[in-house]
Amino acid sequence: MKIASIDADLIGRKRHRFPNLACMKISAHHKAAGDTVMLKTDYDGLDSFDAVYLSKVFTDTPVPAEVLKLDNVTYGGTGFYYDKAPCLPASIEHQMPDYHLYDAWVADKLQHGGKPHDYSYYTDYSIGFLTRGCFRRCDFCVNKNYDRVSVHSPLAEFHDPARPKICLLDDNFFGTPCWREFLQELQSTGKPFQFKQGLDERLLTEDKCAALFSSKYDGDYIFAFDNVTDAQLIESKIQLARKYTDAVMKFYCFCGFDRNERWDTDFWKQDIFDLLFRIEILMRNRCLPYVMRFARYTESPYRGMYITIARWCNQPSFFKKKSLREFAICNGLDSACYRYVADFERLFPEVDPYLDMKYK
Ligand code: SF4
Repeated sequence: MKIASIDADLIGRKRHRFPNLACMKISAHHKAAGDTVMLKTDYDGLDSFDAVYLSKVFTDTPVPAEVLKLDNVTYGGTGFYYDKAPCLPASIEHQMPDYHLYDAWVADKLQHGGKPHDYSYYTDYSIGFLTRGCFRRCDFCVNKNYDRVSVHSPLAEFHDPARPKICLLDDNFFGTPCWREFLQELQSTGKPFQFKQGLDERLLTEDKCAALFSSKYDGDYIFAFDNVTDAQLIESKIQLARKYTDAVMKFYCFCGFDRNERWDTDFWKQDIFDLLFRIEILMRNRCLPYVMRFARYTESPYRGMYITIARWCNQPSFFKKKSLREFAICNGLDSACYRYVADFERLFPEVDPYLDMKYK
């Protein structure tokens, strides 16, 4: 059979640079059955394939509606169904992904001037889930229907000895009682590894810090600081972690989501202040924020503040050198950035100290 695999995020998101695990597993399944599999990077000529598998991770990735109506197209993933996305059949889910699905596409990109580093998730990493799920049930999260962390795949299932690094996609790794043996197994590969989705910093203990921070870790340690009510706990755990490491600790800071479902002006104002408060704590402890905005931030009267704060924080070269006010000014006194900040300050002068805080 002639099979097409479509990673819709690759087509629909300009800067997307991460392979689709479902596409790689479906590809492996068909290649094992003797089929020919091709990574399709557009939506043309799909009727010439016996079967087309289309997957996307992000809900806002566009896909032409007519493609989804074709008889030979099967589609799935959180991008279509969010928290209700059906799982792959176990026989497909639990096998080595086809790490060569993207080879031709990557080769073409490199030939046309792409930098190898930008494609390293396609070329260098074994990718998978040791565990899946989370027990916290955050309203905004794709994992909100889970009530626990479950063991998912043994490392050997997705670890390709030929690949120099390991990327774990676990939702809340430290929520499993098996964390210690899993970390030992990862360490025994001798390869650098990373938890791409971030780790739950609130669950850190002396033991977990000792094991995690003595690992050959790949890149920055990434955690989440999503809720301002965790401020004290987060700060105390940063101080615990600092006993074990001086490495960069980065925190996803989720914002723009009203847990009380009011979505009124008071919420939007408070949400900006809560975000700045979290950033101040991280800054004070020499940690880096990475601002993640819930889609409805666009409804906020202070939408421009979200944009400006995210641009400032999410580029560490700016964040480490400039206050938010300096960042706005360096965009130009006639820039939208500057106007957003100045307007917010005019409305709420109490924001002043946050505008001038600096990373030291
Ligand atoms: S802690 Fe993280 S993974 Fe768990 S439900 Fe909340 S946002 Fe999702």
